[in-house]
Amino acid sequence: MLLTAFARRRARVAFLALLVFHLHLLCDLVGSRGPSPEDLWPIFYLGPFRKDPMWIWKGQWALDAWPNRLLSVALFCWTLWLGARLGHSVAGVFNRRADAVFTGVLRGWREGLARKMVSKDTRGG
Ligand SMILES: [Zn+2]
Repeated sequence: MLLTAFARRRARVAFLALLVFHLHLLCDLVGSRGPSPEDLWPIFYLGPFRKDPMWIWKGQWALDAWPNRLLSVALFCWTLWLGARLGHSVAGVFNRRADAVFTGVLRGWREGLARKMVSKDTRGG
């Protein structure tokens, strides 16, 4: 509701906020266990108002397990790629000028990488 208050396209923002909220809960359910196998992370869907319904999955993997690490690195790289492609990033939430500098650096890295790949192709590698 708070996000839609600041949005121009309120229905779209409400839908996406709801989607992201449930994706977060799903990720908590799947991969937020503590260090020991008994340290399961329960989901209180209506928390902090009610403790019912509560969901828990016994196959839950640890918070620092390889799927979470792999997903974190992949999503981080995707975020950088999107910043370079679109010309704006999460830095723009805080400062537009800093965002322009940041995405400029990202675009420089991307172009440098593309040049290296092209020169590698022309050398037959
Ligand atoms: Zn969570």
